Amino acid sequence: MSFNIAIDGPAGAGKSTIAKMIAKKLGYIYVDTGAMYRAMALYLLREKIDPSDTERINAKCEEADISIGYENGEQIVYLNGENVNSLIRTEEVGNMASVSSPNPNVRKKLVKLQQKLAASKDVVMDGRDIGTCVLPHAQVKVYLTADSRVRAGRRYKELTQKGVSCDIDTIEKDIIERDHQDMTREISPLMQAEDATLVDSSYMSIDEVVDAVIALM
Ligand code: C5P
Repeated sequence: MSFNIAIDGPAGAGKSTIAKMIAKKLGYIYVDTGAMYRAMALYLLREKIDPSDTERINAKCEEADISIGYENGEQIVYLNGENVNSLIRTEEVGNMASVSSPNPNVRKKLVKLQQKLAASKDVVMDGRDIGTCVLPHAQVKVYLTADSRVRAGRRYKELTQKGVSCDIDTIEKDIIERDHQDMTREISPLMQAEDATLVDSSYMSIDEVVDAVIALM
């Protein structure tokens, strides 16, 4: 049987950084489910679909073939065969992902892919509904969060280091808005699974968080 570690939490809590490090340490596969929702969002943006047009989103998402592969340990997301890794990290795609992810067909399609991956391989999977819906039987479940100001500060640092000028208040406002959308949607809202361990990383170093998760095994 494969071993599954589920990490859920709000935007910018450090899920992917932590999940990647744990996967590397344990020799597991890292599955970034947000990247799949982002690839789907990119497809919908390219098709110029109105984010509020639920019917069209549900129909159009069937045309998007999303798959993942690995190159040098790095997850690559393919949209209809095209590597879209470098195109999905924008605010525009993130916001579209957040408004299109509540659609039932989008979720059904991507959850199936995620479950298939975890059934055959030891994985560290991060997202919003992994512990609650995708992998309810995961052996380790973590709900990773941090204060919204701290999360905004981390994102601000990341962007300014890349030479992108930005404003911390706007980043925090966006984060709060996205969390609200993810937590209040009807299908698979972001929440802590009953059997998940809460880890608040606001005042923890990356290594401390990694150690805390590994200790749960
Ligand atoms: O984690 P990331 O910011 O890449 O996720 C983008 C969006 O995809 C989230 O805001 C959320 O709406 C959606 N998502 C989801 N379920 C997941 C992972 C991401 O609904 N398991």
